[in-house]
Amino acid sequence: MIGRWFKKMSGYRGIVLLLIVISWFLIQGIALGQELEFLPLEKIDSFETISIPEFSESFNKQKSEGSETFEKLKYPIGALLFTLFAGVMFRFKKTRPARPLFLMGSLVIFGFINGGCPCIISSFQNFILLGLGAEFKIHTILWFVGIVAVTYLFGRVWCGWICHLGALQEFIYSSDRFDFFKGKRAQEIMRWIRYVLFAALIIQLISTKEILFNRVDPFKVAFNLSSYYTAGWILLGILLISSLFVYRPFCRAVCPVGLLLGWTNRLPGASIIGRNKHCTGCLSCRKVCRTQAIDEYANVSSPDCIMCGDCLDSCKKEGLSFFRKKYIDSTFPLPYIDGLLKSLFRTTSGIMQRSRSVSYMKREKKNNENLF
Ligand code: SF4
Ligand code: SF4
Repeated sequence: MIGRWFKKMSGYRGIVLLLIVISWFLIQGIALGQELEFLPLEKIDSFETISIPEFSESFNKQKSEGSETFEKLKYPIGALLFTLFAGVMFRFKKTRPARPLFLMGSLVIFGFINGGCPCIISSFQNFILLGLGAEFKIHTILWFVGIVAVTYLFGRVWCGWICHLGALQEFIYSSDRFDFFKGKRAQEIMRWIRYVLFAALIIQLISTKEILFNRVDPFKVAFNLSSYYTAGWILLGILLISSLFVYRPFCRAVCPVGLLLGWTNRLPGASIIGRNKHCTGCLSCRKVCRTQAIDEYANVSSPDCIMCGDCLDSCKKEGLSFFRKKYIDSTFPLPYIDGLLKSLFRTTSGIMQRSRSVSYMKREKKNNENLF
């Protein structure tokens, strides 16, 4: 087992491990000398202007304002450009193998260099806060809004190709031996955990009007290797261990952004992968899909598909193609409420039927007694 693990680690995973170790020493060295404070995106002000006495005050002010805006916008814009580029690369068989390089680049730039924050989850929370009356600041929401638009055009390429949070989990994942984690039940459990956490996050944002997720964000701890909060360390431990056995557990059981991007994929006109007339139903695509987005009839569930391209490359008959969705999918919670109502109806009518037959039998028994 250890031999196999080392064999797997010898590829790009080995490089990631090396980067983690180097970052540990680098960041620890810096972090030990300063106090860390976790702030919401709009409060993050990582750029410091150095005033040069010879320059006039007004020129300095103008320059610092311009640089500050650039500094705040550079990560969201960079992320969007990267994702658009990935969306194009994903379309072609020859460029699809570049995916690990994109993930690696993102892990280094957005993760280890930038400290993992601000990120798209902060941007999403700022978007919700904007709806709750927070001041409008373009740099706080651009990341999230832009990625939703790119997802509509290209599918969830952000998740499959760029997101540094997804990349960290993907590089750690090393065992697909446990069938339970690949089964329908595990998929359902993770889906429901995500709905519950999503609802909890929205309620927390509405009630406190503050971003508190940063305090427990395990990725922030992973990329900075320090945290004020014990919860962050505990969650990091859970994340790392579960990522070894489950493919992208945070993406599938926690991430609110992944959930919303999945819903974007249900809209008419959204970019999706689907079967074409060459599909023979051999299900070789299903075997390679690690998000379990392909069902037993080779239909692709677009909300779960992260556009990794493994299914497209595995199909010898070229039985999968890109499509635009023609109709609106029923979205959560409608199918679940529908299912719940149906089972409630079935249970109630079963109970009523049973009680009717019990009272009928009682009546019959009484009639029989009266007769004799
Ligand atoms: S689901 Fe969330 S964490 Fe995972 S890749 Fe997508 S945005 Fe990133
Ligand atoms: S293998 Fe799965 S996740 Fe990857 S592109 Fe195909 S359906 Fe989507």
